[in-house]
Amino acid sequence: MTRFVCVQCGTQFAETSAQPPACPICEDERQYVRWSGQEWTTCEELRARHRNVFTEEGGPIGIGIDPDFAIGQRALAIPSGDGVILWDCVPLVTGEAVERIRSMGGLKAIAISHPHFYSAHAEWSEAFGGVPVYLHEDDRLWVMNPHRAIRFWSGEALEIASGFTLIRTGGHFEGSTVLHHAAGADGRGDLFVGDSLSVLQDRRHVSFMRSYPNAIPLNRPAVERIGAAVAPYPFERIFGTSAQRHISQDGKAAVARSIERYLTAIRD
Ligand SMILES: [Zn+2]
Ligand SMILES: [Zn+2]
Repeated sequence: MTRFVCVQCGTQFAETSAQPPACPICEDERQYVRWSGQEWTTCEELRARHRNVFTEEGGPIGIGIDPDFAIGQRALAIPSGDGVILWDCVPLVTGEAVERIRSMGGLKAIAISHPHFYSAHAEWSEAFGGVPVYLHEDDRLWVMNPHRAIRFWSGEALEIASGFTLIRTGGHFEGSTVLHHAAGADGRGDLFVGDSLSVLQDRRHVSFMRSYPNAIPLNRPAVERIGAAVAPYPFERIFGTSAQRHISQDGKAAVARSIERYLTAIRD
């Protein structure tokens, strides 16, 4: 039995004897099937050809994969004072990554923004003795490997560790989530986002799309709902989904001007 991994999106599937017939994540309108056709690999094959790479991100440590794999997912190991919170996930976990996180006090929990980052959450949890993996209940149908470590949560917010709060924004996916860290940025607050607010190349704005690769925008109510979801929380920095792709100051104002710009662009 094998846990196959989709080469295009990096999602690991539950154990099967044969390759899955298709990847629902890639066949969804938000993604795309590999131009050369559906392909599969395994975590063992990945470990033979790739390694985890680490980047210093101003407190949190970024964890990526080299050479690049899938959609270039990057996770963030965030020190909590009582072990690490892993925000988002990547399709590969190596002994080097395990050692790195152990040196930071060990892994306490994994929380993932949305299905494009579910990747190898089961491998990551198992590598640390089965730590909980927090996924929003509303995206349950996109879980391809329903592992025992998953804690489905529902509603609009959940504190998973002291000062670490998951906030459901919806938008990109119904259960799309961001993570707020109240003590981040010397108490001014950090916001860790996925694709419901996506940090843009200018690192001064975010955007809001149902699909980034297929350019499907969100409508006004969805964007206003995202703004309302994060409004009660103070934050200085916003951490995007790849290395150094952050808004480093006045994140709150960046979100406000991004919403205004976006709504102006889609106005009748
Ligand atoms: Zn896929
Ligand atoms: Zn996404």
